[in-house]
Amino acid sequence: MQENTLIDVRNVKKIYRVGTVGIQALRGADLQIASGDICSVIGRSGSGKSTLLNVLAGLEKVTSGEIVISGKHLERMTQAELIVFRQLHIGFIFQSFNLMPYYTALENVALPLSFRGVPQIARLRQAKRMLELVGLETHMKHKPGELSGGQQQRVGIARALVTNPQIVFADEPTGNLDSNTSDEVMRVIIDILREQKKTLVMVTHDSHIASFGDKVIHLLDGRITDVALNEPAPKELTTQNEPNVRETEVNLDA
Ligand code: ADP
Ligand code: MG
Repeated sequence: MQENTLIDVRNVKKIYRVGTVGIQALRGADLQIASGDICSVIGRSGSGKSTLLNVLAGLEKVTSGEIVISGKHLERMTQAELIVFRQLHIGFIFQSFNLMPYYTALENVALPLSFRGVPQIARLRQAKRMLELVGLETHMKHKPGELSGGQQQRVGIARALVTNPQIVFADEPTGNLDSNTSDEVMRVIIDILREQKKTLVMVTHDSHIASFGDKVIHLLDGRITDVALNEPAPKELTTQNEPNVRETEVNLDA
């Protein structure tokens, strides 16, 4: 295990019991994620992406194996301990935004702070700052139904970050958005998380969306098959500013 490993997944198996059959969603997943990693998890539908994210976020218990985050074993925690752990360390961005329809954008973003007992004035001030960060300062009083999909997901991002979590999990965050809006929303997520030096684990079935991550983790049939580093594209070699030899030759002939 590396020095700066933040998330350590050791031989994790997850079996869902459905009647008399067991569905193996994770079949022995091993994975290390370092603090500050911006990772995508890619795999086709049914490969276990959401299951992996849910067990990492402590939303579901593993059947066997270990999940260690910041040195703490999630599989040993009680439900009550997991709730506290999530409130302190984890932000979650959902595919379908999961906003409260009768609350304004500001109230939605402030909500996780009320679970932590932050007084109302401080809650609203922090929520306002987050909405400004995602570029929604003009829409704070709008309800989700009055916002576009991209705007709703910006509210979702602000809500995930308002508690200043160390780790953000995102499950198909652009799955309900068109391709242009998806790129915009991905840039908002990545820029803020990079700037704030947070750790992101995002799952997607879309290789273009996955390419926003620095690390791309491939999942197939409940197992991690590859972890690829996504090098930034090399700067295009250009000869634009150099003298063009053939042009010079033509000029000499003229
Ligand atoms: P992905 O997110 O990659 O599409 P999932 O993690 O949702 O995959 O699902 C992995 C497998 O586990 C699938 O076969 C799925 O049908 C099954 N599964 C997921 N959640 C449940 C559940 N709550 N009960 C039963 N089976 C489930
Ligand atoms: Mg899924």
